Amino acid sequence: MTVITRFAPSPTGRLHVGNIRTALHNWLLARKAGGKFLLRIDDTDAERSREEYVEAIRADLAWLGLEPDGEERQSLRLALYEEAFDRLRAEGRVYPAWESQQELDLKRKVALGRGLPPIYDRAALALTDAERAAKEAAGDLPHWRFKLDYGEPIAWLDGVRGPQKFDPAQLSDPVIRRADGSWLYMLPSAVDDIAMGVTDVLRGEDHVSNTAVQIQMFTALHAAPPRFAHEALLVGREGKLSKRLGSLSGEALRERGIEPEALVALLARLGTSQPVEAHVAREMFVNTFDLSTFGRAPAKFDEADLERINTAVVHQLDYDHVAARLPAGMDAAAWHAIRPNLTTLSDVGEWWHVVEGPIAPPPFDEETRAYLAQAADALAWSATPWADLTQALKDSTGRKGKALFQPLRQALTGMDHGPDMAELLPLIGESEARTRLRAAATA
Ligand code: GLU
Repeated sequence: MTVITRFAPSPTGRLHVGNIRTALHNWLLARKAGGKFLLRIDDTDAERSREEYVEAIRADLAWLGLEPDGEERQSLRLALYEEAFDRLRAEGRVYPAWESQQELDLKRKVALGRGLPPIYDRAALALTDAERAAKEAAGDLPHWRFKLDYGEPIAWLDGVRGPQKFDPAQLSDPVIRRADGSWLYMLPSAVDDIAMGVTDVLRGEDHVSNTAVQIQMFTALHAAPPRFAHEALLVGREGKLSKRLGSLSGEALRERGIEPEALVALLARLGTSQPVEAHVAREMFVNTFDLSTFGRAPAKFDEADLERINTAVVHQLDYDHVAARLPAGMDAAAWHAIRPNLTTLSDVGEWWHVVEGPIAPPPFDEETRAYLAQAADALAWSATPWADLTQALKDSTGRKGKALFQPLRQALTGMDHGPDMAELLPLIGESEARTRLRAAATA
């Protein structure tokens, strides 16, 4: 059976590190098995869903290289949910309820006050026919609940958490549809997982109790449940991530110069027993993806780690991979010279400017100016102009170490540090290099 996974975001905001991680793991799971990774837009909440977020989700996945093998939208599948609803209703697995939110809140408080779990008391099921008819006659529209089967415990073997068991009587019959006819998440998701042939549902552990309910929905709809796995949530260094999610959106990270490869490298392994490694080759993460290495403890997301990995990733990126994002005229040799000095790719302009000029060298004392004049004369072009120049100056002046190199770097680049001069000097070129040395000698 082909493995089919899905990533099912609600388009009510931008993707952030938490849901990017879920998307990535579903993508890795599918790729490793040679299966399919689907994008399902959970947009049944018309009020909160926005088209701009649908587009942003697609763009973020494309940026991350997690392009789906298919896309579905719940808002276009309402007829399917209606049909499932009718079937479940005919079988007595869905029932109308009329409690207002206030009444439900009160019931909750009373239960908690008595030290009982706040489980819906099924009062709606106890209504007499006459009471129900009266509500209907009064035009009081009900919301709808899925009736859990209390018969047997709900059990599954979770891909991350191991054997799971729930007593259905300890769960509330979930509301699946609002009085205005709109759908809540629970039933449409189960209907879609069946219709799309999803074999593996991998999501955050905040969905564990939903899974218990949905397993009963699969059964009620006469379908075998998929495999389930729930990963521990991502937390920040100081606790919950939720407050900082805006700054951890794909968009914000991209703007900060985080490469998708860095995010993939960190999120692929964070919270697993496998080491986080700054690899650019995606295949490595596909081949080693393994749910059994996922830990139960919350995974700690640290932006400093991301930045460190990002820098290591930038140092590995091939010219072809970044060419379109480089300043005009910058070739592979320039990329290789400059790459080791970058923290993010956006720093490249600063170093390219050093090659292109004009540069502003610091003022030099008289002795150094004389040395730089000598350097301008000694400069000879070859395959290794920097090695030749420094060797010649070492021999002729007796200078060595910093006294030999630093004035040359400053005169040629205007900087105290930077890319390897042996790689940089050929990029600057013979005549420009001589001009810079002379200008520094006479300044
Ligand atoms: N739209 C749901 C969410 O974002 C999907 C959960 C699921 O994977 O089933 O939480």
